[in-house]
Amino acid sequence: MMLESTHFEGLRGTQAMRAGLARYTTWRVGGPADFLYLPADRDDLASFVRQTRTHGPPTVIGLGSNLLVRDGGVRGPVVVLHNPGAALAVADSLVYADAGVASPKLARFAAMHGCAEAEFLAGIPGTVGGALAMHAGCYGGETWRHVARVEVLLANGTFAVRTPADYAIGYRSVMRADGTPADGIFTAAWFRFPQGDGSAARLRIKTLLQKRIATQPLGLPNAGSVFRNPSGDHAARLIESCGLKGRTRGGAQVSTKHANFIVNARGAARAADIEALIEEVQEVVARKTGVRLEAEVRIVGEAA
Ligand SMILES: Cc1cc2nc3c(=O)[nH]c(=O)nc-3n(C[C@H](O)[C@H](O)[C@H](O)COP(=O)(O)OP(=O)(O)OC[C@H]3O[C@@H](n4cnc5c(N)ncnc54)[C@H](O)[C@@H]3O)c2cc1C
Repeated sequence: MMLESTHFEGLRGTQAMRAGLARYTTWRVGGPADFLYLPADRDDLASFVRQTRTHGPPTVIGLGSNLLVRDGGVRGPVVVLHNPGAALAVADSLVYADAGVASPKLARFAAMHGCAEAEFLAGIPGTVGGALAMHAGCYGGETWRHVARVEVLLANGTFAVRTPADYAIGYRSVMRADGTPADGIFTAAWFRFPQGDGSAARLRIKTLLQKRIATQPLGLPNAGSVFRNPSGDHAARLIESCGLKGRTRGGAQVSTKHANFIVNARGAARAADIEALIEEVQEVVARKTGVRLEAEVRIVGEAA
């Protein structure tokens, strides 16, 4: 049964049917969600999850910066958790962040409050929820290294508080400690950062962002590194060594600036172009080097 807005009671967020998802992903591609929901806050999200339980867990989008939504879109409920009004606070020496806070905002907030080691988050253009789900990291920093606890909204619509001991954390991978996939939706996190010099942290953020601008194709729609780095090597090096820099498929192109990025070069790519290019890169790199690159970006939805 298709979801209709008339099915809900007491929701305070924004809802839309057959809503295009391209605007919710940094690649700017993707078909519609059957039913899109932007919750007002965590309790509103819980109410939505309880009322849509029979349709299965919703597909979650933060800032869509690590996500390829196929052209046919996503069946069932989709929730977008990025919320510019999401809360940040300092309490009991921990930094609290709602999952919908943008990670760069958390980095600046932590620096402003004299914390060190949160600077890397300035270079990760997703939400805190996305950083938790992906165990995002760069320049030696990694999200879960600083997590004291998280709040998770479970499929039955209730909240649980968990600690890092409840998870098996690996390179861009977050599983439950028993090896099953991480369940539920991250709704908040409490971070423990060491005390540091706020102005030094702000300077490090500036330097880090300058480095990113110099090395990444940030002027074109992209989703960061497409492939995980294989053990002891770099996906970008392997892709470049196979002569794939600049390779195109429809509107998608292996960036000429950074070989592990695929860009939506003229803003006209389809998700199918990007997915075909991902597969072509995997095939060529495997044939020429023997290394099978694994996608770091998550692919959801149906082909058109
Ligand atoms: C220019 C650029 C540079 C990047 N650089 C880096 C980098 O240096 N290091 C790095 O690690 N990543 C990098 N990324 C990738 C991306 O920014 C991170 O993976 C980021 O943490 C994703 O956050 P998001 O909110 O955009 O998640 P989305 O892309 O919206 O979602 C990613 C996955 O997380 C899940 N998810 C999102 N929010 C939640 C939640 N609240 N609860 C449960 N699951 C959730 C989604 O369902 C999906 O499976 C880069 C991306 C870009 C565009």
